[in-house]
Amino acid sequence: MAGACGILGEGTPAVKIHHLVKAPENTASSIARRESWDASKPATVYITPERLPDGTHCKAATVIMRSRGCAWWWKSGCTFCGYFNDVRDDVTADDLFAQWQEAKRRTNDFEGCSMVKVYTSGTFFEDQENPPEWQELVLRETHEMGLHLIVEAQAHMCSPEKLAWVASHHPGCTVAIGLEAYDDAVLRFHVNKGFSVKTWHRAIADLRANDLRVKTYLIFKPPFMSEGDALKHTTKWLIEVAPLSDEVSINPMNIQRGTIVDRLFRNREYRPPWLWSLVEMIEQAHQPTATHEARIIVHPTAAGKIRGSHNCGACDKEVAAAIERYSVSRNLSEFKGLDCDCKAVWRTEVAADLALPTPLGTGRDRRLNRVDAMRAP
Ligand code: SF4
Ligand SMILES: [Zn+2]
Repeated sequence: MAGACGILGEGTPAVKIHHLVKAPENTASSIARRESWDASKPATVYITPERLPDGTHCKAATVIMRSRGCAWWWKSGCTFCGYFNDVRDDVTADDLFAQWQEAKRRTNDFEGCSMVKVYTSGTFFEDQENPPEWQELVLRETHEMGLHLIVEAQAHMCSPEKLAWVASHHPGCTVAIGLEAYDDAVLRFHVNKGFSVKTWHRAIADLRANDLRVKTYLIFKPPFMSEGDALKHTTKWLIEVAPLSDEVSINPMNIQRGTIVDRLFRNREYRPPWLWSLVEMIEQAHQPTATHEARIIVHPTAAGKIRGSHNCGACDKEVAAAIERYSVSRNLSEFKGLDCDCKAVWRTEVAADLALPTPLGTGRDRRLNRVDAMRAP
């Protein structure tokens, strides 16, 4: 029956999201890329302008480590995460110590910086991912140097014991959790996140109990979601999670190679978010989020490029710059006078997405079969 009726599928067995996520990691190109790097050197080290928890402007060093990577990735993995390109299971404790030395060497012991972000493509304080003696060194040294530290973690790795241990070595540091969506169905079916909203709530309660700062990442437009739904849902999530966080960083989807989103994109079934959607989300969330202290950051990676958030090409630079400025000023006047002919196209797409039963969206970049477009993801 199912085979006879296209709208119900072609009779082929359903594929679990887990298998779709795992498929690309062992392609020849992924393996070649992984084998090509030197594990004693960090993936990258760079310095950017930032703001300290009290709002003062400062310089921050970002150190992206070559690590064994996220335990969740090895088991399953998030649908948009391309970190598997930068992790390898033979990275040793000695490599991590060497990478940390190298990061200090390149920045002259973080000269001129007041903040350092140490990203390990996973959970910084997960002992199977990163050896505890290395974690301790980073926590202790950054604290002794008077640097504010930001590390990342998955919510279910934030055990009360581990957080107390982190706080004892670097009091008041920030733990950033990729919540991505404040909705269990989206976490499960769009993101494959590996933890629930309830687990995130427990994690932030434990972070607060240890006087650690909470940074929350949300993703704008996960796969299998239309532009209209992304705008509606992410705005709502932002308003809901901001009062519970010290900082919320909205990451508009950028397409990393070899991920599920990449395959959808190459099949013309996914368009990265419009920059206009980000402006609209900020304008809708501004008033409710302005009533508390949480800092809202929207940083569209690869803005204006085809794999990042983009508009028509003509207005991208200006709109992306206004979004970046808002993250610092929190002033809606940054968007005054911004306009372009493509805004009408975007507005029509969002209205159609919200009015028609097309769960994957009506965007004109999606050129798949119309019947498939009508099917639920
Ligand atoms: S939890 Fe983070 S590092 Fe791990 S698979 Fe998901 S996005 Fe990637
Ligand atoms: Zn435009």
